[in-house]
Order: sequence, then structure tokens, then C-alpha cells
Amino acid sequence: MTGSIIRTEGLVKDYVLGPHVVHALRGVSVDIEPGEFVAVMGPSGSGKSTFMNLLGCLDTPTGGRYWLDGRDVAGLNRDELARMRNAKIGFVFQQFNLLPRTTAVENVELPLLYGGLPVRDRRRRARDRLAAVGLADREHHHPSQLSGGQQQRVAIARSLVNDPAVILADEPTGNLDTRTSVEILALLQRLNREGLTIVLVTHEPDIAAYAGRVMVFRDGRLLSDDRRPAPQDAAATLAALPVEDEVPA
Ligand code: ADP
Repeated sequence: MTGSIIRTEGLVKDYVLGPHVVHALRGVSVDIEPGEFVAVMGPSGSGKSTFMNLLGCLDTPTGGRYWLDGRDVAGLNRDELARMRNAKIGFVFQQFNLLPRTTAVENVELPLLYGGLPVRDRRRRARDRLAAVGLADREHHHPSQLSGGQQQRVAIARSLVNDPAVILADEPTGNLDTRTSVEILALLQRLNREGLTIVLVTHEPDIAAYAGRVMVFRDGRLLSDDRRPAPQDAAATLAALPVEDEVPA
């Protein structure tokens, strides 16, 4: 065995639709090491979501093997998968998926509700993660009182609250303007440098340029898988962008 965080061997997913079988994944083998920042690309229908759903323990494969942080998860049942997911995976979505009538710090606490941690420890941990994404002064704001970029930071703080082995991000900058997208990438790159493993789906080559490895899917197969020794640095991009008027907080 290697020290992979994510390892798949011949991962297959078929969807049966009446008389038809859709071969969404046709045998995908990957090894992702701790601390990698992977961009997953490919045209619509190429199998990216199916792949991410399997990595995120949201679904079970039709065939093949999957080890998450050294644990064989391909054969787990629903409850075991849910436990694995909660312990090992942090999710970040395009739509942020924050609860609207709930403060930032309460949103970040949500994944801890299942863990049996005392209230005070939950609050402390959530505050700590909010500070890590630069939102210590926004704890009691509701999502509607935050900008899109700030909402995505809250979602990233939430994804980190259980100290996951890996963050799975699905088009995390898809709803953000260019500058805010680069700010989010600068945050993800900083967390990645601190050791976090990130797998991010994107349609945009401009976004994938910030990843150290790019996997391209086509027709349910891995078409290419390239490591990039010198990915773009989001902090440097930000520094070079023209300064905009500050939006009042
Ligand atoms: P992508 O995320 O790259 O757009 P998907 O993984 O969503 O690709 O889809 C891969 C293929 O599997 C497509 O042909 C899609 O129509 C099919 N597919 C995805 N999810 C389902 C499902 N729940 N039931 C049936 N077919 C599906």
C-alpha cells in the first residue's frame, strides 16, 4: 500500500435506466497523495460528478476499489459510508449551501452536531475555523448579510471543521466574480500549503491553472492526468489585479 489519501482501482459506475445502462465511469484508477491540489476537468457528461460522488462516499461503485485514507470503502453500506464521509470529507459547493436563518458560526458548527462534542468545544472549534478563513469578525452575521465570497469562506470553514482528510470542491468559484474567485483560490492554496488535500471540479482552465495536478475526464475515462510543477499563484494574481473600490462592510 502507498500513503495515498485517495486511491481508486478500476472504478466503474453504471446507471440502469429501464432497458438502458449508462456507463458513467468505465474504470478509473487514480492515486492522490496527501497535500495534493487536484483540478478535475472534462466536458459535461464525462463522469466528473459521478467520480466526485464516489470519492465523497455519497454513492457506491458498480465495480472497482476505493481506499480513502487507507480504508477500503468500496464495500461499505450506507451507514458506514455516512460515518466515513462525516469524518474524512469536507464538501464545498458552487451554491455555498449555507442555512439562511443561521449565523456564520452556527453554519460552521453544523457538521459537529453528530460528533458528540460538548457545545462549548463545538463553538470554539467553529470560531477557530472562521478565523482561519479571515472571518473572525463575521461570526454572528447571517448569510444574507455576507457577500458571495464571504459566504463561500463560511462554507470552506464548515468543510474544515472536522479536520477532514480531503476537501471536495464542486465549482466553488462558479458563482463568484473574477476577483473574488481568485481570492477564494488564494485561500484554498494557503490551506493546501498548510497540508490540506483538495480535489476541485472546474470547467475553467483559468481556475485549473492554480492546481498542481489536472485530471481530464472524457466519456467516463481518465483522458489525462498531469502534474504541474509550477501552478499559478493566486496571491500573486491578486496583487497584480487593479484595485477596486472597497465595498462597505
Ligand atoms: P459530468 O459531471 O462530467 O457532467 P456525470 O458524472 O454527471 O458527468 O454524468 C456521466 C454520465 O452519467 C452522463 O451520461 C449522465 O447522463 C449519466 N448520469 C449521471 N447521473 C446519473 C443518474 N443518477 N442516473 C442515470 N444516469 C446518470
